[in-house]
Amino acid sequence: MFFLFGLTTRENLQFTRSATCHYCGLHAPQQVILRKTKLSVFFIPLLTLKRTRLQVCTNCGGTSRLSGSEQRALAH
Ligand SMILES: [Zn+2]
Repeated sequence: MFFLFGLTTRENLQFTRSATCHYCGLHAPQQVILRKTKLSVFFIPLLTLKRTRLQVCTNCGGTSRLSGSEQRALAH
């Protein structure tokens, strides 16, 4: 008997907002992405191991992490 374990990473675009980028300094659309890392057994995702929110600049591609409270603050 054997088990087949794996990790899957999924990225979901949450929303896009207009803001000044930390990297290039331009006022450009910033994509807020939710990245989930899941443990899967026999290709069936079972557990979410990690949840990361990222902000990606559409101009330069600069990526920074957001905390949950930061994301909630941006959504309003
Ligand atoms: Zn940028």
